[in-house]
Amino acid sequence: MPIRALPPLLVNQIAAGEVIERPASVVKELMENAIDAGAGNISITIEQGGKELIRIVDDGSGIPFDELTLALQPHATSKITTSQELDAIATLGFRGEALASIASVSRISILSRTVAQTEAGLVEGEGDQLSQPIPAGGPVGTAVTVRNLFFNTPARRKFLKTDQTETGRIVDMAESVALAHPDIGFTLSVDGRNRWELPPQQSPRNRALQILGTELESELLELQQEERGIQLWGLLGKPNIARSTTKHQRVYLNGRLIADRTIAHAIKEAYRGLIEPTRFPTIVLFLSMDPALVDVNVHPAKSEVRFRNQAIIHGTILHAVRQTLRDADLTPAFDLQQSVTVTPNLAIPPPLPREFSSGMSTEGTSSTNAPAARAFVDYFRQLNPQQKGFVFSEMKAAISDVDPALAELSEEDSAREQLLPSVRSVAEALQVHSSFIVTQDEHGLVIIDQHALHERVMFEKLKQRLDSGTLESQRLLMPAVVEVNQTQLEALDKLRDLLPRLGIELEQIGPTSVAVHAFTTLLFERGVEPDVFIRELLEKSAAQTASPEPEMVLHEVLDMMACKAAIKAGDRMSDEELGELLRYRESIERSSNCPHGRPTTLRLSIQDLEKQFGRR
Ligand code: ADP
Ligand code: MG
Repeated sequence: MPIRALPPLLVNQIAAGEVIERPASVVKELMENAIDAGAGNISITIEQGGKELIRIVDDGSGIPFDELTLALQPHATSKITTSQELDAIATLGFRGEALASIASVSRISILSRTVAQTEAGLVEGEGDQLSQPIPAGGPVGTAVTVRNLFFNTPARRKFLKTDQTETGRIVDMAESVALAHPDIGFTLSVDGRNRWELPPQQSPRNRALQILGTELESELLELQQEERGIQLWGLLGKPNIARSTTKHQRVYLNGRLIADRTIAHAIKEAYRGLIEPTRFPTIVLFLSMDPALVDVNVHPAKSEVRFRNQAIIHGTILHAVRQTLRDADLTPAFDLQQSVTVTPNLAIPPPLPREFSSGMSTEGTSSTNAPAARAFVDYFRQLNPQQKGFVFSEMKAAISDVDPALAELSEEDSAREQLLPSVRSVAEALQVHSSFIVTQDEHGLVIIDQHALHERVMFEKLKQRLDSGTLESQRLLMPAVVEVNQTQLEALDKLRDLLPRLGIELEQIGPTSVAVHAFTTLLFERGVEPDVFIRELLEKSAAQTASPEPEMVLHEVLDMMACKAAIKAGDRMSDEELGELLRYRESIERSSNCPHGRPTTLRLSIQDLEKQFGRR
């Protein structure tokens, strides 16, 4: 076939393929146009997942009558004129592509009027057919109506999901855009019904809370910081409201919703060890910085950006989020309603002990995975009679090991101690079912998962020691021999640098066997068998497909060590041991969660207790 220039309609449809992926992209582009036009109120109407109708009405500047046709032309924009301006974009739009793209794949009409005009103008388009603007009645502002999206690109239309799914995406998109513009009022109507209404002139905090759900207020931490020319403001969800999708993770740069891997990574790092690896924090984060330091012109939908200096962005966000989390009390409240409603969806746990079941409400419906609820169910699962008993001599060794470190608590640590409401005297702590510690702090009743907390304690201790050198090691009189396969040998290679730091000495003594000559003292003292540990370690690292970052590997190995060394559920503890553990809870970082991110502690507040007993 000879080379030919493509007809304009096809060019636009190809461009539309990048800009207009689905109905939600139309909503985004039209909302952004209304925002750029200085609107004070924007109303969004959709029908049938946006496939049949999307209408966005604003009270912004309007489009002059004689520019109406031009607005629908590709690469026609009022927002930039020179390439210098491209270096510091202050508007959401600038590519002049959206309206032309939408017009090429739908039936569009624009009714618009500026303040200077006494009458509005109406222009209609369908594919490459554009009507001449005609005068029409209408208020100042712009109403864009998009019908039958993708009517002339059937492949695209087929690719769309159900009305319900597309509606869901539109609602998410509209909420995400509205979140960044609390000064503007928004309404959203779905299939003839008012979905929500956001009043104008809200504070950023109130707007965010209205969208995230005001009931989450006590679960959100506010972050505010200015560093190295980057202003940060945000609301960070406590670990217990983490979700299984990234939907509740919203990041904005200069008011624009962006998807940036560097930032996502910094957030993940900051939450590491506080939430389970498969979950994502609820977070709203606004970055403001000099637009000249970032290129927003790298993606047709303008959702990706390129920072001049990625490392500074990463470092600043990591630091700010981590700091905010560290300074907060992250103990989740014991949610009585969710705790009980969770059970029908899980394997049937043993019956609730009477003292727990009485007084708990059995109302509520479908909440399936509230972390607090899961921890509660885990508790009952752990009441496993087969669990190995408590070996006192091992515990003694661990305790004597603990003491010196505790004495070394620095000034900084004692400052931290005041941040976490401290539990009352150990005499008031009670170990129940050899698995949980029940005690109180100034807010109410506190329930601690002994294994989870001890695991965190061991983890932080190992990490601290590793930071100041290598872990103490003990030579084995008789090397322990582990049989391995080829992939495990390769995995061993990846661990080669790390193992000596952990006090572990391995040697390959045959094609499929490895000898352990020295082993971490602390693990030894806690009764962990060298060969069992090494086998499990190699199995785990061999199972890893992608080669993870060294930091991740270290975290996982320490995790494993901490888990093995920690007191198990079912281990009885003496008063001294209990005391040690409780003191550690207040002195170490991230004691609210075990290294896997599960909570170590739940709190039942006095107010909730009073409510449950009908005192209020
Ligand atoms: P861009 O937003 O990148 O400039 P668009 O295709 O989205 O490109 O819009 C083209 C032009 O139409 C805009 O530059 C603007 O001048 C005008 N326009 C579009 N929507 C509106 C609106 N709601 N109010 C006022 N002007 C608008
Ligand atoms: Mg635009």
